[in-house]
Amino acid sequence: MFVEAGHDARHSLLMVSSYLGCLKTETRLLLPMTLAANRPEFCSIRSKVEAGQRLSREEGEFLFRPEVDLHALGQLADLVRRRKNGNAAYYNLNAHLNPTNACIYRCPLCAYSRDADDPTAYVMGRDAILARGQEAVESGSTELHIVGGLHPTKDFSWYRSILSDLHGAYPTLHLKAWTPVEIAWFAQSTGRTVRDILEELIGAGLGSMPGGGAEIFDPEIRARIAPRKADAQTWLAVHRTAHGLRLRTNATMLYGHIENPRHRVDHLLRLRELQDETGGFLAFIPLAFHPDGTQLADRVAHPPTAMDDLRTVAVARLLLDNFDHIKAYWISLGVPTAQVALGYGADDLDGTVRYEKIHHDAGSKAPEILSVEELEALIHEAGFVPVERDTLYRRVRRHGSQWEAE
Ligand code: SF4
Repeated sequence: MFVEAGHDARHSLLMVSSYLGCLKTETRLLLPMTLAANRPEFCSIRSKVEAGQRLSREEGEFLFRPEVDLHALGQLADLVRRRKNGNAAYYNLNAHLNPTNACIYRCPLCAYSRDADDPTAYVMGRDAILARGQEAVESGSTELHIVGGLHPTKDFSWYRSILSDLHGAYPTLHLKAWTPVEIAWFAQSTGRTVRDILEELIGAGLGSMPGGGAEIFDPEIRARIAPRKADAQTWLAVHRTAHGLRLRTNATMLYGHIENPRHRVDHLLRLRELQDETGGFLAFIPLAFHPDGTQLADRVAHPPTAMDDLRTVAVARLLLDNFDHIKAYWISLGVPTAQVALGYGADDLDGTVRYEKIHHDAGSKAPEILSVEELEALIHEAGFVPVERDTLYRRVRRHGSQWEAE
């Protein structure tokens, strides 16, 4: 009761704040700075959003400017979020599997990868991989999220067998696996087409693809943070091919390193363009950069601030008008910011997330796992209704560790 009243009160304040910002100039001059911070450009954007019109590149860049009131921006994003998802906030039961951290690319942004001969490099064996699947099923997980390094001596058949072994043993567990970086490498190393590779992986049990490896599409920034990784055109082309095979995928953006708002907006608009073409993306996930242990740590001292996180979530919600879902990935944003982000455009906290390594290796202070009770309490406290979903955003009916999608 107290929580709901607090949420309503906050929303009332935000409504007042943002509408006051659209008053005539002479009226605004009489108001405190925080209430008068909105400018005519923001009022025009508000009108467009209310009318369901698409925002432009320039408008997206404007919304990243610090003088645009964050809370008014969040209120506008919340309008779109509620239009698309009402007061539902989604989560799932999931676990991660990173079969190897050995990687031939050793991207400057990455704290997770190792050279194959490094004493801390690892490769999981078949039994350990199957044990992870078993544990996921026993704990009621609906999804296994599988990504890892590009091992110099493991060929495509090793990666494919991870899927076929898991799918054979646990056919109800949804396998969301391999980013376009891996898919492009499989195609390159086998001399086969991306379509061919994806068809074989679908046959082995691939259920969908995660959104990783997108980083920042701008070629100059990408060349400095991940020079050997598949470029933007390749990343987008793999998703286009996947969507053509009716494989649903996610999309990410890694922000808060050496890019600027112009690069973020460019990234979002390239995703929007592909989504217009295929409609195959399920969700967009903004990923806050964590510098610890990366080669960029001396240039980027801290992860992005909570203010930057919330602004990025809100702008993404407003620009990506053709995406149904924006995730506040609590591992990346931290639990408190992810919870608040539900009121700034996000409609999904991701999941329980067992065994996440990639962000934790880069210094994420988020816990290793959240229980369903903790996720639901966070969502309730933020003023939303928790809804368990599967990977494809079907509502889940659960009976202990048993479940079925509606
Ligand atoms: S980000 Fe991915 S491709 Fe780059 S080094 Fe790390 S594991 Fe390898």
